[in-house]
Amino acid sequence: MDIKEARMRLEKLKKEIGFHRHQYHVFDRETISPAALDSLKNELFKLENEFPELITADSPTQRIGGEALAKFKKAPHAHPMISLYDAFSEDDMREWEKRNLNYLSGFPAGYNPGYYCELKLDGLAGSLVYESGQLVRGVTRGDGRVGEDITLNLRTIESIPLSLRRPEKEELKSIGIVGQDVNAFYRLLDDGLIEVRGESIMSKQVFAELNRKYEKEGRQLLANTRNGAAGSLRQLDPKIAAERKLDFYAYDLILGDYERGEIVHSREAADKLVEFLGFRRVKDNRRAASLKEVFAFQKKWEGKKGTLPFFIDGVVVKYNDMRMWPLLGIVGKAPRYMMAYKFSAEQATTKLLEVIWQVGRTGALTPAAILEPVKVGGVTVGRSTLHNLDEIRRLGLMLSDTIIIERAGDVIPKVISVLSNLRTGEEQPIVVPKHCPRCGGDVRREGDDVILRCTNKNCYAVALRRLIHFASRGAADIEGLGERIVEQLVTENLMEDAGDIFGLRKEDLLGLERFAEKKAEKLVEAIAAKKVMPLSRFIYALGISHIGEESANTVAEEISRRLSSKEILPLELYRKAASLGIEDWASLGDVGPVVAESLHTFWNDEDTETLMSKFERHGVILTAVQAASGHLEGKSFVLTGSLSGLTRGEAKDKIKARGGKTKESVSRTLDYLVVGEEPGSKLEEAKKFGVKVIDEQEFIKLLEGK
Ligand SMILES: [Zn+2]
Repeated sequence: MDIKEARMRLEKLKKEIGFHRHQYHVFDRETISPAALDSLKNELFKLENEFPELITADSPTQRIGGEALAKFKKAPHAHPMISLYDAFSEDDMREWEKRNLNYLSGFPAGYNPGYYCELKLDGLAGSLVYESGQLVRGVTRGDGRVGEDITLNLRTIESIPLSLRRPEKEELKSIGIVGQDVNAFYRLLDDGLIEVRGESIMSKQVFAELNRKYEKEGRQLLANTRNGAAGSLRQLDPKIAAERKLDFYAYDLILGDYERGEIVHSREAADKLVEFLGFRRVKDNRRAASLKEVFAFQKKWEGKKGTLPFFIDGVVVKYNDMRMWPLLGIVGKAPRYMMAYKFSAEQATTKLLEVIWQVGRTGALTPAAILEPVKVGGVTVGRSTLHNLDEIRRLGLMLSDTIIIERAGDVIPKVISVLSNLRTGEEQPIVVPKHCPRCGGDVRREGDDVILRCTNKNCYAVALRRLIHFASRGAADIEGLGERIVEQLVTENLMEDAGDIFGLRKEDLLGLERFAEKKAEKLVEAIAAKKVMPLSRFIYALGISHIGEESANTVAEEISRRLSSKEILPLELYRKAASLGIEDWASLGDVGPVVAESLHTFWNDEDTETLMSKFERHGVILTAVQAASGHLEGKSFVLTGSLSGLTRGEAKDKIKARGGKTKESVSRTLDYLVVGEEPGSKLEEAKKFGVKVIDEQEFIKLLEGK
């Protein structure tokens, strides 16, 4: 990227970040996930590092979020309430440690100060000022220098002491405050200023309770616990704030005009001291001797965060020896002596580089996004699914767009949205292929379907996918015939279609790479074991478009019923299936018009006959579906209108349980049309075809066998 491009990108990033921050900090409105916003800020930060001459005072990296709301009185902070730098990886943390060594020359070489790790609560930061031990003021962070005076609201939080507790001398001694420091501390408590900073939060439980209540009352629901806390404290009516039952956890202590590290030397001691003063603190905070221990702490809580009563989004790592803090000082908007080490975010922003089209087993072309590699959900991702054409249109996606992607748990990463404000005008539309990327064959768009399909039946990719599907676990389940082997056998011209599988001989395999005698023998045996196969599995394994396991089952039941023999030869199956019309397929339960057409096309294809004769020649035998037994065996039903005594689903189950079948549409071969209240056009059709029409009472009698 040259400086001109960098400048343009910087300007757009600043504007975009500025917009979302304003919405969030001023209106408590979340227009983008914090993780995606972090990702944008991180890009900005890196660009500014690369081109420092482009850093401006108004850059979001140079200031702390939030402006004081006009409705509250503005209150300046005696000590700036600074923000934190974020680290997203162990490398970021190591760099941080290395950089800091330059500033610690006052300490002997090799001195290891250790760290103090604190859970990073997700709420609203605030400062509480105690004068002579009495709470006099509570202020939000605001822009770091000036915040909003929300004393009245903060006073409603039960875990904030209105006057400080007086710690015992023994307690002070236990955290290393001895000698003159003890007197200095008591003087501040009796006649000075003590400031305690911390996070106001809403617990997960209170959040759930309030939203249940609000839902009942028809009020607007809280978006999340952080907004719950921030929104409550920025209410002008303290009664509303009180109703929200917030908690306050202290994380910082400022003793009058003393520097950090004076009187209280370590962060660990300061954390205990706030408890002695009457505050709540996070008891899971821990000292860490090295970065290695810091990483372990962070990992542990990333895994366990769900068990906490409140939300956390990372760990704040501070130098435990606070005497180092003044030496390290502040740079830009945040101190050097602490770092927010974030949990791996489930969202990130990146660039769409390319869209590729993968050819699936049914010949369908599926788009996938090739991305600028980005870390999300703890792993680096360079590709994500786009599902289909509709998804691309819904997102309004263009090549070179900046996008938000999400990877939650082990789910395949997906594109969430496009940040269209960041476009430069150079973006290109995504071209829908007219030709198959594998074989160059024509690509067909199916109906108003958004599916693209390669029309070349001999397309290598199609054949390969079909074969892999045929042999896979859910289908024919042939042990040892996995993707790699299928690909090898196709490449060696040993297989063209699934029929060839059953003609494989041991001697064909011997001599191939990776095939020793034993392995060849095992594969041939595994294939032979599947020569007798359930019809439903076989039909599913054929990979007919739109035919999943359930519809394969429906088809198998129908063919079994029509052939009424226990074993079916592939050509028998072919002849029976080819004799059925689209309406016959469409009249089967759960078979829609698209599936019916697909079945009809498949069974009326000459290639299908060739394939079936190949199966037959190689001795494949299909076992029929055992007909369900019951007094409605062989009878078919269509339901129309609503029944008073039972739901449609219950009615269908009762029919099936007695050996009957249900269908979706009326045809000549239908046995019964069951008519409820307000029947539709099916009644007319049934009359036209001369189908027997029965009402609910007659239907119940029929079910009971009367
Ligand atoms: Zn193709």
